[in-house]
Amino acid sequence: MPATSSYPREYEVDIALRDGSTLHVRPVTAQDGPEVLAFLRSLSPESVSLRFFGQANLELAADWAVDVDYANRFGLVATIGPERTIVAHAAYICTGGDRAEVAFAVADAWQERGIATVMLAHLAVAAEQQGITVFVAEVLPGNYLMIRLLRESGYPVAVRAGEGKVTFELPTSRSAEVVEHFERRQQTAAIAAVRRFLCPRSVAVIGASRKRGTVGGEILHNLYRDGFTGEIYPVNPNAVKVQAHQAFDSIAGIRGEVDLAVVVVPAAQVNAVARECASAGVHALLVISAGFAEVGEDGILRQQELLETCRQAGIRLVGPNCFGVINRADDVRLNATFAVHSPPAGGIGFLSQSGGLGIAIIEAAERIGLGISSFVSVGNKADISGNDLIEYWEADAATDVVLLYLESFGNPRRFARIARRVAASKPIVALKSGRSPAGARASASHTGALLSASDVTVDALFRQAGVIRTDTLQELFDVGSLLSSQPVPRGGRVAIVTNAGGPGILCADACQTAGLDVVELPPAVRTRLAEFLAPEASLGNPVDMIATASADSYRLTVEVLVEEGVCDAIIAIFVPPLVTRAEDVARELCAAAAGAGDVALASVFLTSEGAPGELHADGRMPSFEFPEHAAQALAHAARYGRWRARTPGVIPQLAGPRPEEAAAVIAEALAEGAGWLGPERIDALLGCYGLPLIPSRVVQSARQAVAAARELGYPVALKALAAGLVHKSEAGGVRVALDGPEAVREGVRAIMDAVASSGHRLDGLLVQPMAHPGVELLMGVVHDESFGPVIALGAGGTSAELLADVAVRITPLTDVDASEMLHSLRSFALLEGYRGAPACDLAAVTDALLRLSALVEDHPQVAELDLNPVVASPRGVAIVDARIRLQAAPPSPPLPSLGPGSY
Ligand code: ADP
Ligand code: MG
Repeated sequence: MPATSSYPREYEVDIALRDGSTLHVRPVTAQDGPEVLAFLRSLSPESVSLRFFGQANLELAADWAVDVDYANRFGLVATIGPERTIVAHAAYICTGGDRAEVAFAVADAWQERGIATVMLAHLAVAAEQQGITVFVAEVLPGNYLMIRLLRESGYPVAVRAGEGKVTFELPTSRSAEVVEHFERRQQTAAIAAVRRFLCPRSVAVIGASRKRGTVGGEILHNLYRDGFTGEIYPVNPNAVKVQAHQAFDSIAGIRGEVDLAVVVVPAAQVNAVARECASAGVHALLVISAGFAEVGEDGILRQQELLETCRQAGIRLVGPNCFGVINRADDVRLNATFAVHSPPAGGIGFLSQSGGLGIAIIEAAERIGLGISSFVSVGNKADISGNDLIEYWEADAATDVVLLYLESFGNPRRFARIARRVAASKPIVALKSGRSPAGARASASHTGALLSASDVTVDALFRQAGVIRTDTLQELFDVGSLLSSQPVPRGGRVAIVTNAGGPGILCADACQTAGLDVVELPPAVRTRLAEFLAPEASLGNPVDMIATASADSYRLTVEVLVEEGVCDAIIAIFVPPLVTRAEDVARELCAAAAGAGDVALASVFLTSEGAPGELHADGRMPSFEFPEHAAQALAHAARYGRWRARTPGVIPQLAGPRPEEAAAVIAEALAEGAGWLGPERIDALLGCYGLPLIPSRVVQSARQAVAAARELGYPVALKALAAGLVHKSEAGGVRVALDGPEAVREGVRAIMDAVASSGHRLDGLLVQPMAHPGVELLMGVVHDESFGPVIALGAGGTSAELLADVAVRITPLTDVDASEMLHSLRSFALLEGYRGAPACDLAAVTDALLRLSALVEDHPQVAELDLNPVVASPRGVAIVDARIRLQAAPPSPPLPSLGPGSY
């Protein structure tokens, strides 16, 4: 076991507690003696006696606690406040071999908030790294808190009763259960944190202005106007009264407790205000003020200071640089924004990263009748992020659909995990603006070039997580209003009901383009429709009821279509004729919607006034400006429905990977420096995962080449090996189908000449047998700094970029992912056996893809990997060209914590 290690900074973390507050956790140092002693002395006699089994010499205990070597003796403290007061201590001490004893003490006022659980998990990670596999905890039988902590820690504990004490044993390794337990804990903490903003009992507005038309003035006005159910405290040092309400000159002057402080003072004053809020015991800070990380260096420092102030005090922060929050729940009625109007109440949880867009969203919601449950503008996301909100909305009964306007991800992998879980029960619709960081990627490989072309990575992330991605704000609203009022369609069969032919045909075209199925109506359905529609009506799909159609016939037609079960969705289009009134049609459609069961309904009123108010009256019927909008929204919803109904698949257990051997190859290569691997190491690395690289020999002369060709069997391929030569064939460095010694000798000469004239230095030649003829594919991976490994499968060969026929996913792949990728390719038809060609071995293709996924998941040091081509044939797959670039990977963080990037 290693002796003393240096101070392990990676265990310094901010943690979120069950009640939504935060604490700082860090390793103990030898200098902590006095503080630890003060902490132990602050404990109640009961706590001391439970911790130390009776009377204790606290001086000795403190000495013992700070005697750490970060290997055999390791301790953590949790601190709070400007003095960084210690409120909890946890430690392990190795008792020999791979076992260690653990002990905890938590200040009485801080108990039952889950502190010890987190510290236990962090200790376990530290211990495991030191080779300690078992923790032992001895607990007095009356120490219920500790017993419950150990039982509910997520670790599988074994209990043994001894004389007067109970002994617990638990493994230090992080099992799937422990990780899941942590995720649940984090969700509890996130919900509690968001509740501080959306369900406060009292709100102070710091910078509340007497003047309407200012941000501070409008926020205060909105709080009163919308009838916030808690206390409102305007804070303004220069006024006794603000908008006819008593004002306070500072937060300290408020006698009651302040849950939420809304800060609208100029950026330069925000940190002073935040410190006052910390002293006054405020729970949450909503910083509207701009002038932080979005404005450069000074702003970044100002934001860091703000977060630090909040962290020290356990305060949670939304913003800075944001537009505010709204909660439409009847028992809260909070509108802490400066929006001119309030959005109608409804089932949509709306997050906007941009403040400016937030205003537009609220305005639009009001205009089109989009019902909101709560709205949060997260601004710079210094603390509370989109992930926290999604977890909140997942559990919020008032929210049916989550709408996101995102500009960046803090932690995309965590977003993906959370979104995938939430999307299984509540739709998430996202508009992601801006190019992904993928755009900046190196592209020394085909895969790199393909993945840098657009933000395919974000697409992949959303697709895998079941998030509906829209391209425009309009689409975001459209899908939101559809899914917040209609069932998720079971499939893509759509029927169109119209009173005008043209719009009906346009709609049918738009449906088809969007991937929906405009179904043929069976004769039985037509017969029923003919009973009440005009003889001139067209009974196909679209059902054109012609201009004379009454409001009634809309309802009757929808009812027949629903009853006959011929479609999963219906689009009703209304063009104002002379006789029928839009209001009546709206009313009849709402009546039909009420009985439509799991068929989704959408309406399009092509009138100058737009959809009549009757339609929105009970929020049951969505309307769209144009038929194509309805088609697009339904197509999104149907795709989402398919995602929800699909089998998620499993990450298969593959036969025979040798990860340890691969790690050794990687470590050896990295010791010589990062960069592209030579052919032997590529061979070894792919071999460890059973990836079928075609046999090859490195040779230095024509004579060796001929010998290698004879050994491998003709015909062969011959390739130049030269550092920096990325696309060999472009420089004349590849000769294929050489069928005898003379052809090989000739090939060597030609390659030497070509490479010399291209200015590269030839390091040798590669001789390979020819692969069995087949379809050329590309498989590749780029390790993205924030997304992790991104894997691609596409049409391959030297023109891969040109074809740009590629499917992209984020690893790890499930068997279903792999098969979906393959089927989604345009070139899939070729693999299946196009025009009489024999079908390729598809199972071998997906198997190789899954093996590749396992390789890059196990080894984050693989920065870029390009298998191109992988030749797929009826006999299996053969990789004939492979490139791998390694880079030392940063150590993985011990456990999830709060803080930029990690949440
Ligand atoms: P590069 O991609 O650097 O130009 P490759 O090794 O991929 O070089 O070779 C270029 C092309 O030659 C491949 O796309 C493939 O069509 C063909 N080729 C190369 N090696 C073989 C082989 N062993 N069997 C069949 N075809 C091959
Ligand atoms: Mg190639």
